[in-house]
Amino acid sequence: MKEITTTLRLSPSEIPNRIYGVENWSGGYFGISEQGALTVHPTRNPLMGVELIGLVQTLLQRRVKPPFLLRFPQILDTQIRELHEAFRNSIAEYSYEARHRGVFPMKVNQNRSVVERLMAAGHRYEYGLEVGTKAELAAALTLSIHPNALMVCNGIKDRRYLEWAMQSSRIGKNPVLVIEEVSDLQKISEVSAALRIHPDLGFRVRVFSRGTGKWEESGGETSKFGINTIQLLDCLKTVSDRGWTRQLKMLHFHIGSQVTDIRRIKNAIKEAARVYAKVRKMGFPIEYLNVGGGLGVDYDGSRTASDCSVNYSMQEFANDIVYTINEICLSENVPPPTIVTESGRAVAAHHALFIMNVIRTLNPGLGGTEVDPDKVDSEVVEEMMDLYREITPKNFREYYHDALQHREELQSLFNLGYLNLQNRAQGEWLFWEICRKAIKFSHSMKERPEEFIDLENILASKYICNFSVFQSTPDSWALDQLFPIVPLTRLTEEPTVRAILCDITCDSDGQIDKFVDLRDVKQALELHHVNADPYFLAIFLVGAYQESLGMNHNLLGSVNEAHFLVDDAGRPHIDRVIRGESIRQVLATAGYQARDLVENLKQMAQSAETQNKITAEERESFCASYESALEGYTYLED
Ligand SMILES: *Cc1c(COP(=O)(O)O)cnc(C)c1O
Repeated sequence: MKEITTTLRLSPSEIPNRIYGVENWSGGYFGISEQGALTVHPTRNPLMGVELIGLVQTLLQRRVKPPFLLRFPQILDTQIRELHEAFRNSIAEYSYEARHRGVFPMKVNQNRSVVERLMAAGHRYEYGLEVGTKAELAAALTLSIHPNALMVCNGIKDRRYLEWAMQSSRIGKNPVLVIEEVSDLQKISEVSAALRIHPDLGFRVRVFSRGTGKWEESGGETSKFGINTIQLLDCLKTVSDRGWTRQLKMLHFHIGSQVTDIRRIKNAIKEAARVYAKVRKMGFPIEYLNVGGGLGVDYDGSRTASDCSVNYSMQEFANDIVYTINEICLSENVPPPTIVTESGRAVAAHHALFIMNVIRTLNPGLGGTEVDPDKVDSEVVEEMMDLYREITPKNFREYYHDALQHREELQSLFNLGYLNLQNRAQGEWLFWEICRKAIKFSHSMKERPEEFIDLENILASKYICNFSVFQSTPDSWALDQLFPIVPLTRLTEEPTVRAILCDITCDSDGQIDKFVDLRDVKQALELHHVNADPYFLAIFLVGAYQESLGMNHNLLGSVNEAHFLVDDAGRPHIDRVIRGESIRQVLATAGYQARDLVENLKQMAQSAETQNKITAEERESFCASYESALEGYTYLED
């Protein structure tokens, strides 16, 4: 097929913005160079950008192989600053007479370098941490955070969790134990008495209001988390009976992650602020109103309330929270609380991106050469040949339907033994070519019939990429979440292929076949023909949730990782390279110890040698290569 070449002179960003919507979802962190390569701008300075392909080349020179996860710690700094400045602006604008305190929910990204960077960047804002399990607490306990920073302890707790959380106050942390179930109170009382520590407490309260989007179920009345109003009243009574009134510091609400519609946030905050005001009026000097997470990321760049987008900005989010709480406190005549936020997704999503190489490309039905009319000796193939020659923009629908019928005929004749393999191959070749022509003609119609849209999707190429969906973008598999995907280079060149992306697992779910689009969801991604040069694709906005949810399906392990900083002169520096899991490491997680594997292989080879199935030399070379390759990468290396 002849490639479509454009004679128009386009600005370097015209194609990537039109096709991939880069400027819509990039948040100012990604752009296009004049050479048509993707760039990253970790401080959002458009002049301080580096080409991602250059970073990839640096890694390749160091013999670090794709796929890679690239982190840009400065993006974390920028997001932290933005979040806190947004609340500072709102507080000033509405003359709110209390503060905002952020905490980072560790479940969003527990990676040590990420959390440490966030704590350093958030130091001047007294940024803290939120934990939900013992293991997260164990990590959080030892991190250096601002002495005034909060450590919000959520989740279902056992005795050890409670002990660690309480004891952390003795080493300079400010834990708040958030009670999620009534029975927690008894356990807390016992541990507190034993340790002689009087911890700050909070209640996680259910709200009627729900989030929107994929995580809608995590909030609302029937949520698995939190206590309802009846339980809240019981708990408040227990608190005052036990003389803990002054320890009750926080009310906590969380309506779910990626709340797509700002109205849902406003409604939930209204409800939460009312609950706060009423509890406060009952004589409990609550200090913190914790509004949880939910601040979403505009993955598709559409700025709508669709599942993978949000119809509001970070500043609007802050404004609505501060304004609503302020109004309700004024009308209820209670002092305004310190507002605590637990935004994780919005803080972490942008800082990491995933880069993979395309291994090979497959075109459905293509292959083989044009059918030679002189060699056709079957009636049905001859009829298909006529359709193929005579299909026009006027008759293509009818001819396409005829072709469908002929293909059925071809199949039954073959099954009955009337056709040979050559006939069948010719018929198939003609069928797919007729489809291709029909799709091309259908593009000139004003209202394209559904069947041609579907057909075009069926005919999308498959680009086999060196990655595992389950390891690197688990939410695209589990939740149909969309992530922006763009080739690293050739962005001044009009892409001519429509493709879906297949990973290297042996799982039919191991593919990405939904892509961001401004108006809809694309069923195929526009890509370039892969020539002799390596072709890399970047998956953006994978810094939140993907890493800890990733799994070693098919024993494809964690990927090579590199951290880059860009200095004031716009020069990139590798801060750190972390090797992905080796074959040995992933095998160990499934119970295969390298020592045993090597030993067993050696024994098998030895006995094969005594049976003369292998020579001593072959045995040695096999065993040596096996042993050393266990240290190698789980992904394709050539
Ligand atoms: C998951 C979670 C968060 C983080 O939510 P984001 O939408 O990622 O900001 C905050 N608080 C609690 C209690 C959570 O469970």
